[in-house]
Amino acid sequence: MKTDATPEDVRRVAQEVEAAGLRAVVIRGDYQTVIGPVGDERRLDFDRLAALPGVKEAARVEAPYKLISREYARFFGEPGAHKTVAIRDVHIGNGEPVIIAGPCAVESRQQIMRMAEAVKHAGAHVLRGGVFKPRSSVHSFQGIGAAGIHDAEEALGWLKEAGDAFDLPVVTEVRGESMVELVGKHVDLMHIGARNMYDQDLLVQVAQQGKPVLLKRHFGASIEELLSFSEYIAAEGNKDIILCERGIVPVGKGKSYTRYTLDLAAIPVIHQETYLPVIVDPSHGTGRRDLIFDMSCAAISAGADGLMIESHYNPAEALVDGAQMVTPDELKDIIEACRTLYRARKGLRRNAGT
Ligand code: PEP
Ligand code: MN
Repeated sequence: MKTDATPEDVRRVAQEVEAAGLRAVVIRGDYQTVIGPVGDERRLDFDRLAALPGVKEAARVEAPYKLISREYARFFGEPGAHKTVAIRDVHIGNGEPVIIAGPCAVESRQQIMRMAEAVKHAGAHVLRGGVFKPRSSVHSFQGIGAAGIHDAEEALGWLKEAGDAFDLPVVTEVRGESMVELVGKHVDLMHIGARNMYDQDLLVQVAQQGKPVLLKRHFGASIEELLSFSEYIAAEGNKDIILCERGIVPVGKGKSYTRYTLDLAAIPVIHQETYLPVIVDPSHGTGRRDLIFDMSCAAISAGADGLMIESHYNPAEALVDGAQMVTPDELKDIIEACRTLYRARKGLRRNAGT
């Protein structure tokens, strides 16, 4: 209320709130009175309240996401703790870290077959490989699937074949609405890339495929936006959502030492806000092969439920993102270190909450 609001103004607002079926809690300060409606805020017309005499401001205080919120979990039949999402028989959330690994892009049948064997041997659980690549330049390689439907089906088939051969569920990015069904037919986990995090129509369509969804944080998005947009998927009745921190735009002028700035504090924050699993992509997050080991360890130490790491048997000859891809041997060391750190953290945090 405004500082000069009269007791009659306060009464009037409280009456309006109660008429809508909510309780009006009136808090009187030295200078100002605040009226807090308790109940289903959707029943209130905030514009109407704002126009009443003596009102300074009328605003919703509820979070823009509820379905995926830890706080509201019990109202929607979700466990209050951590949700486990199944990618076929790989379970992520509240357990050993799940490693998604593979090349940035599927380049050939031979390449993805060889990488499937390599990442399996290194200890990874899910095979990645982009069939459609989001690129800043139209003149660069757009992914093998971008050339046409025939190539897309063929490349998705190779990915699936490679996954099946080494008992690895597979994930690839859905770059646009026209590809949703096709990708949905071939993969076990549907990946929405950072650039598409804000595309609510794509989110809704992907959610409707009934497969788990990997949603990456846009490099300019706040954590609240990432959670709000994941709510679009949950609102379709699909709560098998894995969130991914992959770095935000670095500050400062000139050449940055890393491709993005990996926001590791996002992990515990997201865990506090939602029961959904959260993973980290140190590959796009740094853009540098020499930083992947350390940032993977840091992510697991901060409580990440898994990692998405780009790997190639010969990064120098990769068509995309060679500078950030680790070799399968490096991947194996990273996975072993992360297992050790996960167990150490679990032991150390026994008395310190989540
Ligand atoms: C990717 O994982 O292949 C990718 C392009 O990542 P991002 O959307 O985070 O840039
Ligand atoms: Mn990449």
